[in-house]
Amino acid sequence: MKPRGAQNEQVFIDPVCGMEVCHMSAMAECLYQGKTYYFCAAICREAFEAEPEKYIRPHRQHGVKSG
Ligand SMILES: [Zn+2]
Repeated sequence: MKPRGAQNEQVFIDPVCGMEVCHMSAMAECLYQGKTYYFCAAICREAFEAEPEKYIRPHRQHGVKSG
């Protein structure tokens, strides 16, 4: 497997399914709170728009409960 040549292509994470989408491959986008989110499919955008806060919660998760 060869690493792809690094180009100035921005990659975004689809917040709904976690898939990587680049600007060219994004099938849908949504502007929310001043930030543009990209999605792999329109259905992901629909899920995001239904409950955006569910998908953009902060990544800082101190203390992981177990059990
Ligand atoms: Zn998706």
